Amino acid sequence: MGWVSPKVYAILNNSEKGKTILEGIGDKDQATVDKEVDEFFHNSPVHKITSEDEKKFIKSKLKPVWQGSRAGPKIEFLGDDINEAINSLPRNESELILNALRDNVSGGIWQGKGQGYFSVYEKKIVLDRYMLLSSPYYEKNGVFFHEVGHAIDYSLGGGNRTISSTFISQKHNVSLAQMIYDEASQITDEQFEQIVKESEEQRQDNLQEKISVLSNELTSIIDEQEKAYAKIREKENGLIESKFGKEAVGIRVYQYNDMCFLKALNDNGIKSLSDFYELDLTKQQEIRKKIEPSVKKSVEEFKNFKQHLFEINPELKEASEEYSKIYQKKLDKNLEIERVKNVNTRIWGNVADLIGGAHKKKGADGINFGHSASYWETYQKYNLGTEAFAELFDGLTNSKVSYYNMKQVFPKSVEIFEEIINGQGRK
Ligand SMILES: [Zn+2]
Repeated sequence: MGWVSPKVYAILNNSEKGKTILEGIGDKDQATVDKEVDEFFHNSPVHKITSEDEKKFIKSKLKPVWQGSRAGPKIEFLGDDINEAINSLPRNESELILNALRDNVSGGIWQGKGQGYFSVYEKKIVLDRYMLLSSPYYEKNGVFFHEVGHAIDYSLGGGNRTISSTFISQKHNVSLAQMIYDEASQITDEQFEQIVKESEEQRQDNLQEKISVLSNELTSIIDEQEKAYAKIREKENGLIESKFGKEAVGIRVYQYNDMCFLKALNDNGIKSLSDFYELDLTKQQEIRKKIEPSVKKSVEEFKNFKQHLFEINPELKEASEEYSKIYQKKLDKNLEIERVKNVNTRIWGNVADLIGGAHKKKGADGINFGHSASYWETYQKYNLGTEAFAELFDGLTNSKVSYYNMKQVFPKSVEIFEEIINGQGRK
């Protein structure tokens, strides 16, 4: 059944054109409703970030303060993408975002690997490109809206407290933090599993069928990749392999950088990148300092050698570019498959996280996704309140299905959240 968020509902309900869309909801499929709603907003005078100043503002906030060691692409390019996402929101929400960034993020947004968080003390947001763009567990840009949700929670709370714990609902007479605890702690793992199962049945989305179609597509891309690789081998005459090893053939400079970085970590007794990012920051910096000069040197050599080869052999350059394109296609297809497999995590992950939080554990049966038990053990209700706020904000702005699911399971909490967003909770 089609549906829209309450905020969108209110806007649609305000015009004749919008009303006709709403009347059809229930008979139409979700994709049709989404399309009509998108068209409606496209032609409506909602808040648009059109002035150059506002565009620059978002971009300035996306400027990486710290790039790490990686020679990879910067996060700034996401500026246009995120501007566009904010553009499609109703005025109220985009203003909340802009104000929260103004109030709470001073230096910019950091690019962190494997991390996404908002720090009120350091006035920064840390975002991982992978989580923003290519994780199967989140909607695209979802982590941005989540962390901005935390910033809004603080912004509306006055800067050092959160609105999710200070605002007392007129309707329910408690805070969001209290209500989400009350609602989420009543739901058992068994009940949650049942809810997810019913939603799967309702969707009837034939996951297996979709996965098998996509897997066939993947197989033919892998064939293409092998052919393109053979072509590089033919053109490079063993030059790259003899100098940099077999695994360096056909890869890009940043991939070679990652490879060298990982190898240097291995030489220092660290097995994987995720092991490295689990170390505390001081230790990470210490290791970086030790291994980076040699990694950098090898990467420089690789880069110069490749450039030289390309100059003297344009056919190799062409073959190499072709290979990169196919390689990217393979990554995209893999992600598509992972997204189909993980649809439940994306649409139910937030609900699982909050139920887990109320029981001081990670996620709930079937979807063991979310914050760790130790996170919930400290200031449980406070953390539950602020996560509920951030997850609801992310849902409202960027993931309608997740929002709808939270509304089904935690109806009173969502009512309090809407009171706050609709202006009652403004400072
Ligand atoms: Zn959070």
